[in-house]
Amino acid sequence: MRRRGLFAMLVVGALLTGGTACTSPDTSRIVVTTNILGDVVTEIVGDEAEVRVLMKRNADPHSFAVSAQEAHTMQTADLLVYNGLGLEEGVLRHVEAAKAENVPTVEVGTRIDPMEYREGDAAGQPDPHFWTDPARVVAAVRLLADEIVDHVDGVDARVVRERADAYAKKLAELDTDLARRFAAIPAQRRVLVTNHHVFGYLADRYDFRVIGAIIPSGTTLASPSSSDLASLVSAIRTHRVPAIFVDTSQPARLAEVLVSEAGISVTVTALYSESLSDSDGDAPSYLAMMRFNTEAIIDGLSG
Ligand SMILES: [Zn+2]
Repeated sequence: MRRRGLFAMLVVGALLTGGTACTSPDTSRIVVTTNILGDVVTEIVGDEAEVRVLMKRNADPHSFAVSAQEAHTMQTADLLVYNGLGLEEGVLRHVEAAKAENVPTVEVGTRIDPMEYREGDAAGQPDPHFWTDPARVVAAVRLLADEIVDHVDGVDARVVRERADAYAKKLAELDTDLARRFAAIPAQRRVLVTNHHVFGYLADRYDFRVIGAIIPSGTTLASPSSSDLASLVSAIRTHRVPAIFVDTSQPARLAEVLVSEAGISVTVTALYSESLSDSDGDAPSYLAMMRFNTEAIIDGLSG
């Protein structure tokens, strides 16, 4: 009876999620929480295994949730990859449930030399937004290739390693290009004000100063006090900040109200800092996302 129940559940699951019905039941499955890591893992495995990404495109990694069916998918994965360091607050309990079912898991953020927040309410706590530094994504690719080869049955280790090497090379080129592009911004203009503290790693890598954030926290789930906003406006004036960078997955309203009420001359620019766009959008992949953001930051700071 138990087996039959499980079978029925799998059939219903395949019907509900669609797109997987044609996948051979023998195909190993890697489940990934965020869409950025989903893109990275897909680049590494190609067709060697099925990659299931839980977070929708344009969603907020701090708050997205999963369905009961997706929670089940996590608990039956061959490998579960998550960002960690407190990023995916809405799915952490399901990650813990998968661990309890002995699913091999990789918390990428803890293994790429994580930094602590230096500013705001979260100062001293680990910062999960490591993907804003491509060099750390190279480190993530290396460790994910190892974990995939170790834990996912049926993958060709040679293919996985070759794909990981080729992708790491593209990431290294991205890093070199970004360093060159950002270095062209005069040092006094290399200043960042963002929706929340999302660019600590990017600032560290490419020598930006983080002036502040509208939500002075590491998560979008917090909110600013009026004195937080008043001191941010004062910092924006002091440092002559020309642009506030918000995230496309969050409403820009707070930034726009701040700018109009404070009477400051600042543009509000939307970046894909936390989530990929749709496949036909400006940031369908991690590489495209970083290049789009770079040009938008340069544009914003030259205004
Ligand atoms: Zn964030």
